[in-house]
Parts: sequence; C-alpha cells; structure tokens
Amino acid sequence: MAELNQLTVNEVKEMFLHVADKVIGSKDLLTEVDSAIGDGDHGTGMSVGFKQAIENLNSKELNTINDVFKTIGMSLISSMGGASGVIFGTVFLGGVKNLENTKTLDTNILAKIMTGSLEGVKERGKASLGDKTMIDALEPASDALNESSSEKLSFLEALKKAEKAAEEGVEKSKEYVAKFGRAKTLGERAIGHQDAGATSVWIIFKSMREWVETNNG
Ligand code: ADP
Ligand code: MG
Repeated sequence: MAELNQLTVNEVKEMFLHVADKVIGSKDLLTEVDSAIGDGDHGTGMSVGFKQAIENLNSKELNTINDVFKTIGMSLISSMGGASGVIFGTVFLGGVKNLENTKTLDTNILAKIMTGSLEGVKERGKASLGDKTMIDALEPASDALNESSSEKLSFLEALKKAEKAAEEGVEKSKEYVAKFGRAKTLGERAIGHQDAGATSVWIIFKSMREWVETNNG
C-alpha cells in the first residue's frame, strides 16, 4: 500500500479495473444517451473497449503508471474501432505521451496527465469546449485538476473536484448545438440532450474518486 495521497502502479491498475467495471455497468445509460441524439452505439463501444482493457491490464506486465495508461489506451483503440475508439484511446495515450516514466500517481501527476489528454484529444478531433463532445467534461476536469495541483490538494479532494467539474460539464453540454457526429445534423434539436462521450468522462472520474475514497482516502 502506498502512502496516502499517492498511488502505486498496482493501485492505479486496481483503480482502473474498478473504472472499467463501472463503465461496463453504465452500458445501458450510455446507450440511452447516445440514442437520443447519436446512433446509440456508445454504450456498446465503451463496454467492448473496457472489457479489453480489463483483459490487458490483467495480462500485461505493468512497471510504471505510464504502462497502465498506455495499456488502457491501446486496448480502447484496438477494440472499439471508429472515431470514438481513437478519441477515448487518446485520453489515455495522449496523457502519458510526454510524461517521464513514473511509479507513483498523485494530484500533480494526474493534472499533468489530463492536460496531455486534453491536448491530444483536441489535436485528434479538432473539437473545442462547447461543441457538444467529451471535451465539455474533460476540459473542466483537467482545469480543476490543475487548480488542485497548485493548491496542493489531496488526491481524493482533487478527484472530487474533477468529478464535480465533469458532472457540471455534462449538464452544460445539454445546452450546446453539436458540431460533430450525427448530432450535428439535428441542429437545435440536440439542445436539451447531454453528450454521450462527456457522460463517459464523468463516469470515469466518478469511479476513480470512488476507488480512492474507499482505498486511499
Ligand atoms: P460514434 O460517434 O462513432 O457513434 P460513439 O457513439 O462511441 O462513436 O462516441 C460518440 C462520442 O464521441 C460523442 O458523444 C463525443 O463525446 C465523442 N466525439 C465524437 N467526435 C469527437 C471529436 N471530434 N472530438 C472529441 N470527442 C468527440
Ligand atoms: Mg455513437
């Protein structure tokens, strides 16, 4: 067991196994959300991706936090297919792209990782805040983590703030007109509906917070 406020490689693996279970368990919700304004495949896609992530996390040798993120990212890209596989894969791969190898995760390192994730996703998908995509949750969560890092908040406190920021981002995504995907063709009719990918980002932060609250809080 690592110190409070700091997770070991194995704890980060355990945390993401919990995240994966929760994403898979949210399949129906994500299907429903994507069915309202998208094509309804987001629940299935995320479920397939995170099942592959569980398999690979359990079978690959993980020596660093970087290995954990890379393994998840590669699992999502290889199994989900399509644009969203690349987008969600990039959250994990882009996050550690410029991060030197580390064996611990804390507020500061997670803030760095999520900053890289956001940059990577924006570079890949060319979307910005307010375009009704997962960035509507990822950007506020990343900003919250950077604030928490400068305020030297505990890992649990930082995750609570990131979760809240992501949740508020999902709420705000309801008000936006979509600039990407099938929802784009709906124009104003997409207003009132939250974005599916943003919902997934919120679920990811929420379940990270749950694991840390139970095991490292
Ligand atoms: P698809 O769009 O192929 O049906 P999914 O339904 O699995 O794939 O995922 C849709 C989600 O992907 C959207 O709700 C949105 O959050 C995210 N997404 C789509 N395009 C982009 C993009 N260019 N940048 C960021 N996120 C995007
Ligand atoms: Mg879809």
